[in-house]
Amino acid sequence: MILQDFASPRLFVDHPLAAESKVPLSPSQSHYLASVLRRKVGAPVLVFNGRDGEWRAEVAAQNRGAGVLRVIEQARRQTPPCDLHLLFAPLKHARLDYVVQKAVEMGVGSIRPVMTQRTQAARVNLARMRANVVEAAEQCGILALPPVDTPAPLALALKNLDAGRLLIFCDEAAPSGDPVAMLAQAFTKSTGGPASLAVLVGPEGGFTQDERLALLQRGNLVRLRLGPRILRADTAAVAALAVAQSVLGDWRFER
Ligand code: SAH
Repeated sequence: MILQDFASPRLFVDHPLAAESKVPLSPSQSHYLASVLRRKVGAPVLVFNGRDGEWRAEVAAQNRGAGVLRVIEQARRQTPPCDLHLLFAPLKHARLDYVVQKAVEMGVGSIRPVMTQRTQAARVNLARMRANVVEAAEQCGILALPPVDTPAPLALALKNLDAGRLLIFCDEAAPSGDPVAMLAQAFTKSTGGPASLAVLVGPEGGFTQDERLALLQRGNLVRLRLGPRILRADTAAVAALAVAQSVLGDWRFER
């Protein structure tokens, strides 16, 4: 369980963390601490870098736009990310921000945009996606940041998916059925702990029939229908991740 210290702001820093190390803050982090939160020298802060766990630190200096932290002691050891990939057709602007933030909160360990025939976002702003990962990670208490892959065509993404990874293909055209039971059934073939999973969600226009047929050729796949309504792609991603985490992932097998 996470016993988060809500009195301390929690910041991601791309800097090695060890007792007594000095960590320079970015101008925006310095501004946030000093001007938005009004934290003075000596104020407690939690920091993590995705590698060395989480550390208690304090504000050591606050020169305009160039704050420095002093690291004190480790609060939590590093934990690995969930073995859960999210493959999704990138959406436009706010919906893409939403999917990335919610994926992080839901415990996705790898964010993998795939280009499908009906994908609408022609260009994907990876820097913005990574900034959304950091923001969500700071907020939700995780220690390992999911990497954001460069977008891959669907066929290539499928080819590169390890055969042992259960692919949860979200398909509104799948026959109706109990999604929990379908995933639990797939689980009886797996090893007993959290499974290696990938959730795949299509673009707003859905998958084409060709894409659907190609997907259904794959072994180790569950074709999942998320209820009787068509969900928007961003809603479908969160709904599918909730089912996956509760039946096969770390909602059930908490580490
Ligand atoms: N082709 C549809 C909409 C696609 S919705 C149409 O325009 O009518 C976008 C994506 O969300 C789909 O590709 C699918 O992956 C997922 N999705 C939406 N509703 C779903 C449902 N009820 N069950 C499973 N997946 C769903």
